Amino acid sequence: MDVRPYIGRFAPSPSGHLHFGSLIAAVASYCDAKSNQGTWLVRIENLDPPREVKGSADDILRTLEGFGLFWDNAVQYQSQRHHLYDSALQKLKASGMTFGCACSRKDLASVGGLDFYPGTCRNGIPHEKEGKSVRFQVSKSNIENIKWNDLVQGNQNVLKSSLGDFILRRSDGYYAYHLAVVVDDADQGVTNIVRGADLMDSSPRHLLLQEALNLGSPLYAHIPLAYNIMKDKLSKLTNASPIQIEDAPNQIQDALKFLGQLDVEIDLPEKMLSQAIDQWDVSKIPKSSRTHWT
Ligand code: GLU
Repeated sequence: MDVRPYIGRFAPSPSGHLHFGSLIAAVASYCDAKSNQGTWLVRIENLDPPREVKGSADDILRTLEGFGLFWDNAVQYQSQRHHLYDSALQKLKASGMTFGCACSRKDLASVGGLDFYPGTCRNGIPHEKEGKSVRFQVSKSNIENIKWNDLVQGNQNVLKSSLGDFILRRSDGYYAYHLAVVVDDADQGVTNIVRGADLMDSSPRHLLLQEALNLGSPLYAHIPLAYNIMKDKLSKLTNASPIQIEDAPNQIQDALKFLGQLDVEIDLPEKMLSQAIDQWDVSKIPKSSRTHWT
């Protein structure tokens, strides 16, 4: 049995302010870690400079502090960890599990291959073209059925053949989220990942990479998403309003309610969170995503 001490994390991308959707992921991962006497890390996922909003990493950290969500150890920034992603990529290349790909988004869209890679460059790049991105060749994995027991969503079973070959390094040279997140979680010793259900689809890819790189797999818990009244996921893209430190007690109370936890009285954020940790019960988190009225 795995007896490693619990290490959890919150891994925001600095592409805007924290909103209620990110708050529930932060609160859930924090309370789950602390109720297991665990460590809670914060990692800024600034892998994608073109999409980074200046000042947002600092803004996110100040907001977390204002909400009483204090992390352990130093904050890690993905922009400073490229050497780790490169060595993982070299390892996968050396074991023959990758291939270069010359397809642009436009090429893929024209053959309906944006969601499922049609295999165009798998057996070689058309001559006159250059393989600028690197993909993981899913069929080379030893796993056929990707199974995991999600601590909120229950038993999952995804067929390898339902996944297209996915990008590890983009044509602009940046590393892809799937590669970086797997490398970082393993390098930081993360044992438990609590995050939004929008990343459920990513987890089978992460499990394949963990196996290919000979890393252990953490436990996963995918929490429900909060939608706005238009049924869009609350996100920076749907202009979800930023959470305000002045309103932290109400927002924390709402977040815990959304997560199906017992009520906590309005108080200082740290006190509310400490009560929430004492009462925390992961089995009470509802599976389904739903509207949150702000
Ligand atoms: N950086 C991702 C996001 O902000 C989260 C990644 C993760 O939790 O695995 O959506």
